[in-house]
Amino acid sequence: MTRRSATDLIHHPYKPPAGFEAPVPGVFKASTVIFANVAAMRARRWKDKQGYTYGLHGTPTTFTLEERVATLEGGRFTLLVPSGLAAVGLVDAAFLRSGDEVLVPDNGYGPGKELAQAELARWGIKHRFYDAMDPAAFERAIGPDTRLAWLEAAGSVTMEFPDLRALARIARARGVLTVLDNTWGAGIAFNPFDLGNGQSVDVSMHALTKYPSGGGDVLMGAVTTRDDALYARLAQTHMRWGWGVGANDAEALLRALPSVALRYRAQDDAARVVAKWLQQRPEIGRLLHPAFEGSPGHEHWAAHCTAAAGLFSVLFDERFTVAQVDRFVDALKLFRIGYSWGGAMSLVVPYELQPMRSLPHGHAGVLVRFSIGLEDPQDLIADLEQALSGLG
Ligand SMILES: *Cc1c(COP(=O)(O)O)cnc(C)c1O
Repeated sequence: MTRRSATDLIHHPYKPPAGFEAPVPGVFKASTVIFANVAAMRARRWKDKQGYTYGLHGTPTTFTLEERVATLEGGRFTLLVPSGLAAVGLVDAAFLRSGDEVLVPDNGYGPGKELAQAELARWGIKHRFYDAMDPAAFERAIGPDTRLAWLEAAGSVTMEFPDLRALARIARARGVLTVLDNTWGAGIAFNPFDLGNGQSVDVSMHALTKYPSGGGDVLMGAVTTRDDALYARLAQTHMRWGWGVGANDAEALLRALPSVALRYRAQDDAARVVAKWLQQRPEIGRLLHPAFEGSPGHEHWAAHCTAAAGLFSVLFDERFTVAQVDRFVDALKLFRIGYSWGGAMSLVVPYELQPMRSLPHGHAGVLVRFSIGLEDPQDLIADLEQALSGLG
């Protein structure tokens, strides 16, 4: 029976030869996955990545990216979600239920705190903000209902580096699961599953939006663990809520991952050059960069890390008003004003700390955060110099 071309354009008889290989793996796009027969459909297995069922449950493209992110993080199992914030939500949804309490660092990623305050609270899940720089206070914050503790290194915006080993050890001793927001370390600065002295976190969460993407153009998050049972729990929640990622975004990540370590180290080096220059300026009251002595938690950074993200903040001398610092930020030409970091373009954001913190933070002066991109650091310094000269 001859068919019409409209049909053959869908059910085409040509099959390309198998065995094609190229430096970047092929991109598979699917909602529907086709089964050879009913028996194959009934025998479907996707939870252990031994087969395919539906695009949401994984394709060769997403499985490949998951395996590579697991390798980057030093874990065994990774799940991908549409953003870093969705990765926070996946961990919370997988491990918490009504009546439980979650501990969140007071200097943690702001939208993650808001998720606890505004959404988890609606489900009867309690939260408590703790001082990440005080392990004894962390231990005191653990109560009978505490199930999960978020850790973050370095802290959001104020860049404090906590004693991760101590926090992980305390949580383990008290039977509390730990999840680290590992976006800053990116799997490069330190290994969250091998913190030294036998300590490890249970789960690592990573906003692939930042360094792994490197472009400022993709949103994606990852949740990684070494533990079979924790992975099974996460995978069930991931599947039931339908938090899949698009193939084009996975492709962008697969393309960017081979250079992530090079970019991370180049941005680290450039950031330290720029931060050192800024630190010596009379307009600057304090530099907040964990690799610099005098920065909060510098000794813990030195004990855990071999590198740092290209991210730092400065507190302007207290004589400068918010309006003056805003004018400085507006005068910058190479540093563009925008959230996120880890991309090729240097970014700047002024922050008002007071509404961001529940506990005393001890910082004075207007805070500005810089994300160093891949421009020449001497050009970035020249840009900062011309903008500072207008400060008066
Ligand atoms: C950006 C970021 C997130 C959230 O990632 P998105 O993909 O923007 O949702 C979470 N944690 C940290 C530390 C981040 O920097």
